[in-house]
Amino acid sequence: LPQIVWLRRDLRLADQPAFHAAAQAGPVIPVYVLDDDRPGDHAMGGASRWWLHHSLDALSRGLGRHHSRLILRRGDCVEQLCRIAAETGAGAIHAIRHYEPWWQEAERELAGKVDLSLQDGNYLMPPGAVRTGSGEAYKIFTPFYKALLQHMPPRDPLPEVSLSNPESWPESDDLADWGLLPAAPDWAGGMRKAWDVGEDAAHERLEFFLDHVADYEDDRNLPSLDGSSRLSPYLHFGELSPAQVWHEFDGRRGKGVESYRREIVWRDFAQNIICQFPDYPLRNYREQFDNFPWRDPDSDDDAAGDLRAWQTGRTGYPIVDAGMRQLWATGWMHNRVRMIAASFLIKHLLIDWRHGERWFWDTLVDADFGNNGTNWQWVSGTGVDSQMFVRIMAPLSQSEKFDAAAYIREWVPELADLPDEEIHDPEGLLRPADYAEKLIGHREARDRALSIHGDWKS
Ligand code: FAD
Repeated sequence: LPQIVWLRRDLRLADQPAFHAAAQAGPVIPVYVLDDDRPGDHAMGGASRWWLHHSLDALSRGLGRHHSRLILRRGDCVEQLCRIAAETGAGAIHAIRHYEPWWQEAERELAGKVDLSLQDGNYLMPPGAVRTGSGEAYKIFTPFYKALLQHMPPRDPLPEVSLSNPESWPESDDLADWGLLPAAPDWAGGMRKAWDVGEDAAHERLEFFLDHVADYEDDRNLPSLDGSSRLSPYLHFGELSPAQVWHEFDGRRGKGVESYRREIVWRDFAQNIICQFPDYPLRNYREQFDNFPWRDPDSDDDAAGDLRAWQTGRTGYPIVDAGMRQLWATGWMHNRVRMIAASFLIKHLLIDWRHGERWFWDTLVDADFGNNGTNWQWVSGTGVDSQMFVRIMAPLSQSEKFDAAAYIREWVPELADLPDEEIHDPEGLLRPADYAEKLIGHREARDRALSIHGDWKS
């Protein structure tokens, strides 16, 4: 009997256990269903849709090399998959487990209707599996990391399988009709320049990074360098598996490899949090923050203006503006700058982290329910880590410390002619007339945040 492979954020052919399980059982029908209803507010944002288009296109070409096809359907995923199963007489549906709450629900529903075979494959360990000696799930990263290391290395990556075809193919939508790419205006020029999408491109980027991993520990915090792997969108869409990444460094030692492997464990940690608290990216984990006196852009024009200035990179803080413009242009922002920009929104502008989470959700090509939500709550101090609110990052000294001059020059052309010493905080006559005024001074913002936090706490 034909076997359906249901694809979601696992758009690869190698190390894809669902393809393996299906190919052993019969001819394979690969299916992707675009379901915009089930995720609710977390339906894919604009940048992710752009990536998805190219990723499906690449996967379709990859399947073509196996003389197979990718079947595209739009609508409720459970309904569509049941329909295809009925049309083709499929024996089973195979998929890699996903942990976003809407996917968990779809998997439960589908399992009640068809023979659903679920595999692990998108994380180093199945989320929920790493536990303390007494069986508790972890809420803090370092002990989670140490416990996960006890289970490493992950299993060896699986090779690509050869697929046999069903006697006839079900109907498929045309990818171009889904409208995943921007119409007018075409805002994706910077993204096309910044990224090659798909499984082959993911492996090329991994190869490139292999030559740089030795310097990762030193370079990862410097936004002016190409010092991190930039694998996040490939990992998010599953064009690459973490087990493939892990094993690519086998035989290499040193601080860089260790530090890099530790970093990819953050993905697993975020899913471990989502497993415990499925609505973590939607609400304050520390409920006392529900009555924190945020400035509300929905009811306060000044706050709305500040939010807009942050989104468009016009805060008057060069490092923040460079980051927000990099994000808008390329769909990605350097991790150090993500932390600075997020802290600025929450603490300098006193705007609820969920406004930032939403903006990142729409503009990041690596927008990830778990990673985005846990990182925003981490910066804001509303999450599982306590006392973070009072750690207010100083954007200007961070910019100097992490040597962001070249980065600022690249993304804020108004400042391009300034020397390194001035570019982090141009003052007086050195501040170009066409560059934004600061929304608020750093000291004033810091005092305001600490005093409001102090009053609210007492
Ligand atoms: P590298 O430094 O090369 O790290 C390797 C991989 O490890 C990354 O590709 C990523 O998969 C994982 N990783 C690294 N740091 C983290 C982290 N802190 N949390 C979770 N995974 C991590 N990352 C996302 O993938 N999606 C998001 O939506 C996202 N939103 C974020 C929001 C905020 C406010 C902040 C501060 C961070 C966010 N991150 C998010 C984490 C991090 O910034 C990116 O994963 C990283 O910048 C991606 O670049 P890279 O691939 O070069 O990372």
